[in-house]
Amino acid sequence: MQSWPLQQRVARFDCLLLAQAQQAAACNASHSAQARVCRWLLELRDRCDSDVVPLTQNFLAHMVGVQRTTVTLVAGRLQALGIIRCRRGKVRVLDAAKLEHFTCECYSRMKNLRESLWGTRAQEQAIAVPPVALHPERAGNGGAHAHASKLPQ
Ligand SMILES: [Zn+2]
Repeated sequence: MQSWPLQQRVARFDCLLLAQAQQAAACNASHSAQARVCRWLLELRDRCDSDVVPLTQNFLAHMVGVQRTTVTLVAGRLQALGIIRCRRGKVRVLDAAKLEHFTCECYSRMKNLRESLWGTRAQEQAIAVPPVALHPERAGNGGAHAHASKLPQ
């Protein structure tokens, strides 16, 4: 069975993963911890489609490649400026525009690339595969059995 749109999506996703890995490596090598923390928070906010992202400072430190104490300092500064608010395992982005001001250009590069290869969040949701297409047996009589009856006997 072939599904050309699915193959295209998988190929684009492969390109996106590779580009993200390259950009993250370049970012980690050349931009400040504060800029990287801001980038991560913005990217998670975009992916979660919410101002509240489930995230511990420990995990953020691991992803940014710094010690937890560095993330604590950066988060403290951002909280003092009213940009984010940290609570147990959650970070609320209060002012995304200011957060974007403190990040590096890697955020906008990755966002533009993601949208060109993968589409915007709204486009992604519009073409989401309905659960019945993934699990035809759940569709009742019109699902997998209808397809099987069309096969040569
Ligand atoms: Zn960067």
